[in-house]
Amino acid sequence: MKVTLLTHTPEPERVVVAAALLCYQKGDPEKAYARAGNEELRHRLFEELIRQGHGSTLEHSTFTFGIEGVSRACSHQLVRHRLCSYNQQSQRYVDVGAPDYFVKPDSLAADGGRFEEVVGETVQYYRDMIDQFADQGVKGEQAQQDARYIIPNAGKTNLIWTTNLRNLLHVCHVRMCARAQWEIRRLIFACRRAMEPKFPLIAKYMVVKCHPNAFGYCDEEFRSCGFRPKREDVIPEDPDCPPGPGW
Ligand SMILES: Cc1cc2nc3c(=O)[nH]c(=O)nc-3n(C[C@H](O)[C@H](O)[C@H](O)COP(=O)(O)OP(=O)(O)OC[C@H]3O[C@@H](n4cnc5c(N)ncnc54)[C@H](O)[C@@H]3O)c2cc1C
Repeated sequence: MKVTLLTHTPEPERVVVAAALLCYQKGDPEKAYARAGNEELRHRLFEELIRQGHGSTLEHSTFTFGIEGVSRACSHQLVRHRLCSYNQQSQRYVDVGAPDYFVKPDSLAADGGRFEEVVGETVQYYRDMIDQFADQGVKGEQAQQDARYIIPNAGKTNLIWTTNLRNLLHVCHVRMCARAQWEIRRLIFACRRAMEPKFPLIAKYMVVKCHPNAFGYCDEEFRSCGFRPKREDVIPEDPDCPPGPGW
């Protein structure tokens, strides 16, 4: 698996902070953007906005990742996050009938070569279908679009994934969790590593939901891994805020 940060909003923290400043000032948007150029103010407000959950401001920044060599099992989990944009390598236009187009989980390392055996048979079946189609004069995507039906979840794929910052943090919260599968966890941790050199302040908040930089407690009722305190250990029973003026 390889993950690259391909491109992003030029000054992602600045536009987020400008959006927040605009809400609380009389001046125009340019003034808010200019004020957000102040590094000390920008860093302080940026962290405050994330901690307060002023999420709409985070939607002004977007990040585009190149994702290479994940399984279709993994990509299917990623694309369930609907508030993002995706493009994925086509199994119609790309011939995927080769042994290196498969992801083998580490947990199957000691299977005595059974995985490779099944992959070999699968690839052979795919190649046979392609040959049969060719004999009928059917080629390219017309042949590949049906031959691909034999490709399992292990089939390898590449994607370009664009997400805004609000959604990126949400995906980190749920997919870095020990409950998520190893491959998508690995993918999202790789996204954070791709962000760290350029955007350490953002990477600081690309954490699992129970991390102190997110909720700070685990909300997995029955399936908690036990690493962090559960919600009821942290949040008291007291149901409402004290009544304010006018109540
Ligand atoms: C550990 C784990 C296990 C999972 N297991 C399964 C499983 O067994 N089976 C399965 O089918 N899925 C499973 N999923 C996927 C899960 O059900 C979601 O499809 C996935 O997490 C994406 O949903 P989302 O709310 O995070 O993101 P998105 O769908 O991108 O939505 C983001 C947010 O936008 C809002 N939103 C989006 N659409 C709507 C809408 N129509 N109405 C109202 N609000 C909306 C919500 O606030 C939502 O949280 C699993 C996910 C995880 C993390």
